[in-house]
Amino acid sequence: MNSPAIVGRGVTEGARMFREWFASLTEAPQRGRPAAYVFVMGSFNELLLAFDMAPVFPEINSLQMAVRRVAHEYLNEAEDYGYSPDICGYVKADVALQLRKGRHPMGVIPKPDVAILTNACNTYLKWGEIWERMHGTPVVTVDIPGSRASGRQTWPGDPDFERDRIYVERQIRELIAVLERVAKKKFDVDRLRETMGHANAMSRSFKQLIELNRSTPAVFNAVSEGTVYLGVANGFRGTAAGAAYFRDLVEEMSYKAANGLGTINEEKHRLVFVGVPCYPIFRRFNELFSEWGGAFVSSTYLWFASGGAGLGWQYDLSRPIESLAEGALIGVRHAMDCMFFQDRALIDLIDPYRVDGVVFHGIKSCRTTSTGLSDTRRVLGERRDIPSLLLESDMMDRRVVSEAQMKNRVDAFFEGLASRKLARTSA
Ligand code: SF4
Repeated sequence: MNSPAIVGRGVTEGARMFREWFASLTEAPQRGRPAAYVFVMGSFNELLLAFDMAPVFPEINSLQMAVRRVAHEYLNEAEDYGYSPDICGYVKADVALQLRKGRHPMGVIPKPDVAILTNACNTYLKWGEIWERMHGTPVVTVDIPGSRASGRQTWPGDPDFERDRIYVERQIRELIAVLERVAKKKFDVDRLRETMGHANAMSRSFKQLIELNRSTPAVFNAVSEGTVYLGVANGFRGTAAGAAYFRDLVEEMSYKAANGLGTINEEKHRLVFVGVPCYPIFRRFNELFSEWGGAFVSSTYLWFASGGAGLGWQYDLSRPIESLAEGALIGVRHAMDCMFFQDRALIDLIDPYRVDGVVFHGIKSCRTTSTGLSDTRRVLGERRDIPSLLLESDMMDRRVVSEAQMKNRVDAFFEGLASRKLARTSA
């Protein structure tokens, strides 16, 4: 199809799919589908779907509460229960959700029959312990080796990579045994091949999608629209619907790129976003930038929260379990690299995306993504002389989000960007 009717389809379709997804979670217990609680960095969705389990992403549940402006109710409830104001807001919102027997603005979230964690964020490990205590949930932690140092990844064919892959593969085989017990089903390798095939198609398209934003003007906003895409990439990973969604999205964005249609009317500044967005004032947060003609062309979020989809990694379906281990190792390691070695990820984006400025968003709730932002900012300034802005607020807690203060800093940043451009053109 090559018609303007496809413009905007990705956001509308994504919202529709998400409503249906939450409805399917609500119905999961009646349909006898066990619920598996998982995280965006290493969900193993392909494996869970092979057992016909319902994957539940507590991080997505929590951010949806913030976007729908009810997060404070859940946060207050968890704090009254005894959780500190200073820990991850996603955790507290989930604790209150569990206390409310799963009642969520978009449906009823089933209790966890099993939880699968990775070590990508250390909060995951403590979060799993809460479900163990509350519901007696069996918890499996898959330990994924990260990069030993910046720029020191090993790849298939390297003996070190092979050792890491075997380590992950053995844990996946143990995980399969646990899932067989929880789902009361024998593992079906052909079903796994099928879900991995869909994940391959999604991954190919996701990479193309990210690269399409190299065009000028940028065809999608990596923060606002990007969050919808990330939701689908996680919730529908390993499904035919997810693969079709991203195929259609690439079609939509290719059309926009070919016809010079941008995400905002007049793009003046191309920006990269670092961190997790400010969900309590999500729309306004984006307007603070778009009103100045600032377009977010990419983000570290699109990388670390896509479960490795941004790499376009392709599983080898002739050796599914070995390849699932390779994919988990490469994808989760990349997610960790995008947080812990952000300077490299950012510097790599600057030229291909013609970046004018970088916006760092440090959040109270999340030390994992916010630690080291000032250092990264300094390194970026030293290596590439790219102007940057550091904002501080939260992704959940509206008590620490000061819109007026944020606006002052954003306005000053754009004034600086504009005068810098003017100086360049008149030089
Ligand atoms: S600390 Fe950060 S990365 Fe970890 S669960 Fe919370 S929001 Fe996610």
